Amino acid sequence: MSYVDEVLEQVKAKNADQPEFLQAVSEVLDSLRPVIDANEELYRKNAILERITEPDRQIMFRVPWVDDNGQVQVNRGFRVQFNNAIGPYKGGLRLHPSVNLSIIKFLGFEQIFKNSLTTLPIGGGKGGSDFDPKGKSDREIMAFCQSFMTELSKYIGADVDVPAGDIGTGAREIGFMFGQYKRIQGSFEGVLTGKGLTWGGSLARTQATGYGLLYLTNALLKDHNIDIAGKTCAVSGSGNVAIYAIEKAQQLGAKPVTCSDSTGWIYDPEGIDVALLKEVKEVKRARLTEYAAARPSAEYHEKKNGEHGVWQYKVDLALPCATQNELDLEDAKMLVANGVISVTEGANMPTTLDATKYLQENGVLFVGGKAANAGGVATSALEMSQNSERLSWSFEEVDGKLKGIMETIYANISDAAKRYGVEGDYVAGANIAGFEKVVDAMLAQGVC
Ligand code: NDP
Repeated sequence: MSYVDEVLEQVKAKNADQPEFLQAVSEVLDSLRPVIDANEELYRKNAILERITEPDRQIMFRVPWVDDNGQVQVNRGFRVQFNNAIGPYKGGLRLHPSVNLSIIKFLGFEQIFKNSLTTLPIGGGKGGSDFDPKGKSDREIMAFCQSFMTELSKYIGADVDVPAGDIGTGAREIGFMFGQYKRIQGSFEGVLTGKGLTWGGSLARTQATGYGLLYLTNALLKDHNIDIAGKTCAVSGSGNVAIYAIEKAQQLGAKPVTCSDSTGWIYDPEGIDVALLKEVKEVKRARLTEYAAARPSAEYHEKKNGEHGVWQYKVDLALPCATQNELDLEDAKMLVANGVISVTEGANMPTTLDATKYLQENGVLFVGGKAANAGGVATSALEMSQNSERLSWSFEEVDGKLKGIMETIYANISDAAKRYGVEGDYVAGANIAGFEKVVDAMLAQGVC
């Protein structure tokens, strides 16, 4: 049995109850076969795959807090510190009722390779809680965040582990958590990224994941002599990533015609009105029905099981920016039938494995989230650099660096795929390029 298959069996046996984690490990190890086969003896002797698939540590803790009725609520908190071979652990905090250890481990595992791809010195980690911020008052959010950070603060630090935002964790939550960390540790340090601009945050961090996705998509299309201007796009989600993906797509001359949330989607053939979308989602924190009510050209559709949602329309570019496994095989078939040129992932693992395979086999240019959404964490690392320097860079400086990083990521993944004989397979290219750097560091640092 090959080394990859042997380790996959072990990982499956040890983590049988963690489907998302197993999906991520299978996807990564499968695509790494060319590199691993070429170095099998060295990697086997050093148990590289066994070590890289087992987190350095996984921390789970109780988060008690008091709601507005005086009732004590209890949630579960997580922080998985996966691998710090090339730098301090770095990865977001997800607050969503679906959060469990499997999801946090899948995200933390993927984060190792994504962070390595950014070209910056950051390791991989992820955390969060099954707390649902929806419908909670500001006071309840603060009570939860303070309790969460009271425990988490024991395990993080500017040179140890630097969490950031993710689904459900935005500027408000980062603020409450930073305040509590400062209070407990008595130290003003760059322990979280995604901070406010007056207290150590970086300009362009808010825009970074969505803008970065479009910088990479543009580099991909250019490399294939395709002009992004005039192309229609299907975007899913209407959160941080989706909003700024739509904004940058428009700035580059493309036309996003859809967006969605967990209850439904918008089809707006005139092109999404990004100012209105920001007003509905960032200011009012309302449903997309409000967007449709204010925009005569838009149709709102309630989400129903078995429907293709935003993937049913004839578009050139698909940009999944909502959540994991939101684009399945049937959706992929629909996109291919409608002549889609590229699928570039803003969210983490939004495309199922069989859908990814189908898209690749049918000539669609496909770049997974690990590379395509790395702009967020790259800019977080730029925030860490600014905190260390005690300086703030201008929007243009950060945005310029972000654009350069995303173009370098595209060049590196394309090159890695070519070197291992899988030209055009950007999933393999991303995994290989990210993996090579981490393994070099692991080998240099001995058995740890
Ligand atoms: P937000 O919480 O800002 O937005 C998430 C969006 O996805 C919302 O529109 C939400 O709708 C929708 N959504 C969530 N769950 C579902 C579901 N089950 N079905 C349909 N829609 C759903 O998160 P972000 O935009 O920050 O993150 C989106 C994705 O991008 C995630 O996978 C995240 O891990 C990834 N990512 C984010 C980065 C960042 O910098 N923010 C960096 C890299 C990756 P609703 O409002 O109804 O919940």
